[in-house]
Amino acid sequence: MILTRRGLMALAGTTAALSALPAFAQDKGTIGIAMPTKSSSRWISDGDSMVAAFQAAGYATDLQYAEDDIPTQLSQIENMITSGVKALVIAAIDGTTLSNALDNAAAMGIKVIAYDRLIRDSGSVDYYATFDNFKVGVQQAESLVKGLNERFAGVKPWNVELFGGSPDDNNAFFFYNGAMSVLQPLIDAGDIVIPSGQMGMDVVGTLRWDGAVAQARMDNLLSSNYGSTQLHGVLSPYDGLSIGILSSVKGVGYGSGDLPMPIVTGQDAEIPSVKSMIAGEQYSTIFKDTRELAKVTVGMVDAVLSGGEPQINDTTTYDNGVKVVPSYLLEPVSVDVTNYEAILVGSGYYTADQLK
Ligand code: BGC
Repeated sequence: MILTRRGLMALAGTTAALSALPAFAQDKGTIGIAMPTKSSSRWISDGDSMVAAFQAAGYATDLQYAEDDIPTQLSQIENMITSGVKALVIAAIDGTTLSNALDNAAAMGIKVIAYDRLIRDSGSVDYYATFDNFKVGVQQAESLVKGLNERFAGVKPWNVELFGGSPDDNNAFFFYNGAMSVLQPLIDAGDIVIPSGQMGMDVVGTLRWDGAVAQARMDNLLSSNYGSTQLHGVLSPYDGLSIGILSSVKGVGYGSGDLPMPIVTGQDAEIPSVKSMIAGEQYSTIFKDTRELAKVTVGMVDAVLSGGEPQINDTTTYDNGVKVVPSYLLEPVSVDVTNYEAILVGSGYYTADQLK
């Protein structure tokens, strides 16, 4: 849906009514916002926060979700370009498939911001707004090790399995590499073993971040490697995968009798996973404040469109295969049952009632 000042005037009927809507006081053009899917609540929050912030800054918005379908996202972006948006903010489903469309955008002077996920193989990406993705992986692995020490103090080596994110999402490699920077030394020292032997993003990746795929892989790992071996921990890069992994392990008896739940990590602090943490199932998650990412992104777009320089804090990390994309990285926060109230409720991200 596109909301413009003119549209509002028609809706409001009178200019007097319009003057009561200062958030739309300027008509600075429309921003196209392409988000991957509504199946994960974090992207809904990202979209809603950006619409509110862009409108407050005087822009109209065209927000689209593509339900994780690459051709759908491509055609949404092509339509935005044709309709004359001033800038595109894109969280890509597959970061490598947008090059032609983005070249067309650049030829029309449309600015392109990669949102959360790097857009690869294109020189037509102006800026990148994201979190410190390597650090997300480090925090996931650190919390996995903290949990292993707490729950399985006297038992070493710990039996752990590894899950990665979607191989078409550049972030997935940063998360995995960040996590392995913590776990590999423990594997080398013999403190952690991977009974399946399955390591490396080519083996542990989970296409489209699909929880059902993770659940099926966990089922297979358990039946092939854990007949008489106890699973102690699972590196999971995303809450939606953690839910699938947890239902798989519960299905074979973990979390009941004398078989404790393995330590399972996550990411995004989605409500079902925070509830699972409170219930003692998922061990941790990583909170990435989507309100802050939206705010940074809107600031970037506004600066670029006003002929200014957006604020960036990283000019070396994100090489997309054609250029190093100037980036702004926000800080992720590790959350478990000990600090979720302070971090998630205290910041107003959720109300206490939403987590009941
Ligand atoms: C995001 C994560 C999210 C994942 C699945 C990644 O690109 O950075 O926050 O968990 O996609 O949606």
